[in-house]
Amino acid sequence: MATYQVSLIPGDGIGPEVAEATRRILEATGIGFEWDYCDAGLDALEKHGDVLPKATLDSVRKNGIGLKGPITTPVGSGFRSVNVGLRQALNLYANLRPGKTIPGVQAAFDNIDLVIVRENLEDTYAGVEFDTGTPEAAEVISAINSRSQKQIAANAAITIKMITPENSRRIVEYAFDYARKNKRKKVTAVHKANIMKFSDGLFLRVAQEVAAENPDIQFEDRIVDNMCMQLMQKPDLYDVLVMPNLYGDIVSDLVAGMIGGLGVAPGGNIGTEAAVFEPIHGSAPSHAGKNEANPMAMTLSGALMLRHLGEIAAAERVEGAVAAVVGEGKDVTYDLREDRDPSKAATTSGMADAIIARL
Ligand code: NAD
Repeated sequence: MATYQVSLIPGDGIGPEVAEATRRILEATGIGFEWDYCDAGLDALEKHGDVLPKATLDSVRKNGIGLKGPITTPVGSGFRSVNVGLRQALNLYANLRPGKTIPGVQAAFDNIDLVIVRENLEDTYAGVEFDTGTPEAAEVISAINSRSQKQIAANAAITIKMITPENSRRIVEYAFDYARKNKRKKVTAVHKANIMKFSDGLFLRVAQEVAAENPDIQFEDRIVDNMCMQLMQKPDLYDVLVMPNLYGDIVSDLVAGMIGGLGVAPGGNIGTEAAVFEPIHGSAPSHAGKNEANPMAMTLSGALMLRHLGEIAAAERVEGAVAAVVGEGKDVTYDLREDRDPSKAATTSGMADAIIARL
C-alpha cells in the first residue's frame, strides 16, 4: 500500500488539537502517512521571523499535498494573511467547498448535497485597488474617463475586477473533472454576465466551451442573485456549482450556513503543483488548549484530501464514521449539543476516539 508524504500545518488556537485528532483518524484508516510538521502563523513568526516560512512552502511544494489547521490573522496592518499567502505562493487556483447535510447537526435545511468550486486567484480579489483621493486613483480615473462613455467620479475608490480566459478555463475544467471523478451529474456556472458583459461574459463563454467538450456531464448557468434564491427554494436541483472568486466566497458561506455553519464545513485549495486541505472555521481562540473544539471540519477536510489522493474508499469510511458519531449525538463536542455545555460534551480527543471506533 502507498505511503503518502503530507505537510501537516497544525496552525494555532484550536488548530493543533483538531489537527492531532484528524491525524489519528486518518492513520486509523490503515493508509500510510509520513507527516512533515510545518510551522505557520504567530509561532512561525517567533521561531523563523516569518508567518509563512520558506521551509513550510518548500515542504508543501515537495510533497504536493498539505493538511492545514486554522491560523489566527491578527487585525491590524503589516501582518499578511497566511491563508491568502499560501494560495498565492503555491498557485492554488481552485477552492473546493462541499456542503453536505450531516444528520445530527442542527441546520435550517435537510438533504443538501452541493459542491462549490470557487476560482481562488483573480476577480476583485487579486488586490489591484486604488484608494479614494490618491494620485494613483486620479491617474486611473482620468485614463478610464478619456476612453469610456460612462464616467467615474473623481473621488471614487477603485477595485479592479479581472477575469482571464486561462483561469476561467482552468477552474471550469476542474469542476467538470471533479464531477466526473466523484460521480456527480451536473455543473452549473454562476455569473452576472447580464450586467458585467465583458468580465463575467468571458467566464460564461469559456464555461460553455468547456461544457461542450464534456458532454457526459450536464451543464447549465445561473445568474448569481437568482442562484441564491434558488438555493433557498430548490437546492435539490443543483449539484456542482462553479464560479468566479467573489461569488464563490459568498455562495460557499451561504451553503455552509444551510448545512449548520462554518464549524462543520471542510475545504480544499487545489493547484497544479500542490493542494492544501483545511477546515473553513478559524482558530477559535477562546476554546484553544481546552480539548473541547469540534474536530469534524478538519477531519472532513482530511477526507477531501483522501479523495484528492484517489483513496475514495478510505474517504467514504471517514465521512461515514463522522456521520455515524454525529448522527448518534452521544460522543460529540459541545457545539453539536443543544445545551452547548462543554462539561457534558465529549472532548476533542474523545470524539476522535469515537470516530475511529466507527471506521
Ligand atoms: P472562528 O471560526 O474561529 O470562530 C467562530 C465561532 O465558531 C466561535 O464561536 C468559535 O468558538 C466557533 N468555532 C469555530 N470552530 C470551532 C470548532 N472546531 N469547534 C467548536 N467551535 C468552533 O472565527 P473568528 O472568531 O472570526 O476567527 C478567529 C481567528 O481565526 C481570526 O484570527 C481569523 O482571522 C482566523 N481565521 C482563520 C481561518 C483559516 O486559517 N483558514 C479561517 C477563518 C478565520
